[in-house]
Amino acid sequence: MRNCVSCGRSIAWDANVCPYCGHDYRFQGMAPQQAQVSEGMKILLYIVSFLIPLAGFIIGAVYYTKPEHEFRELGKMCIILALVAVLLGALCWIPMFIL
Ligand SMILES: [Zn+2]
Repeated sequence: MRNCVSCGRSIAWDANVCPYCGHDYRFQGMAPQQAQVSEGMKILLYIVSFLIPLAGFIIGAVYYTKPEHEFRELGKMCIILALVAVLLGALCWIPMFIL
């Protein structure tokens, strides 16, 4: 016997599903691998997005369509950085046209 990790009651050692709460043990240890982007890779993508806004929009669009939350956040950041870069670029260029 062992205790169910979900409801704490005693269940058969080899039970696939807890008979009390329905907790499923069949896929334990086989959890889908968490999608991960290394910190270095993120920083590199952020820098690229800032320096080459067009690349940033493309990278952002690619990552933003992925289902993983982490990729979506990364994509969003790339798009934001690319937008900031474009805005800063515009701010630098506009005075030259006015003056
Ligand atoms: Zn249970």
